[in-house]
Amino acid sequence: MKKKWLIGGIILVSTLLLLYGTYEWMNARSFQLFGGVTDRVETEKKIVALTFDDGPTENAQEILSLLEEYDVKTTFFVNGKDLEENMEIGKEINEAGHQLGNHTYSHEPMVFKRYSFYKEEVQKTNELIRRTGYEKKIDFRPPYGKKLAGLPYYLKEQGMDTIMWDIEPDTYHTSSTGKVSFVAENIQPGSIILFHPMYMEVESALSTIEGIIETLSEKGYTFVTVDELQKEEQDD
Ligand SMILES: [Zn+2]
Repeated sequence: MKKKWLIGGIILVSTLLLLYGTYEWMNARSFQLFGGVTDRVETEKKIVALTFDDGPTENAQEILSLLEEYDVKTTFFVNGKDLEENMEIGKEINEAGHQLGNHTYSHEPMVFKRYSFYKEEVQKTNELIRRTGYEKKIDFRPPYGKKLAGLPYYLKEQGMDTIMWDIEPDTYHTSSTGKVSFVAENIQPGSIILFHPMYMEVESALSTIEGIIETLSEKGYTFVTVDELQKEEQDD
């Protein structure tokens, strides 16, 4: 009888550990089973990448004007379904010299799905990004930061890098000032900042972006695209 309980206990604990392990693995920012994954870059230079997820929505147009005012280049990880509807905005992002990245077509979580689903989500979005006139290498960022094996395997086949982040102010703060000070406190050379400005009130999105640019510039930081940041990676 006792033995049965012991075996049952072992099975229960193992299952919990397995579930916990899968959860950690799915959300890991600096580990991935296949292909390259980057959450930040090792460098001594005070350069950082500001990245925007989702959309593009109409907010992007005002963001573009603000970025132009400060002469700052950023990276937009866009969803195919939104880009399809806002192709003109996509073209403006490209023409302004920002980086365009793939954030899937539908923004569904890219875990526990068929391989053909990952393929279609990524391919369709890459094609739409090319329609903006963007010619450089296309990086990928998974919705909700989630990935396991099927998606990374497909990305590796395509030679696409996964870009995560090391600073995410939206998770910890709702106010613009809170987000700006969170970024200022956690920033380090080589950081990748994740911000979601597309579905926010545009004033709040703009004041957060402006706050991040001004505060970090005062600290001596310069903003570059993810591509440029990766070129600065030090070989240890
Ligand atoms: Zn997203």
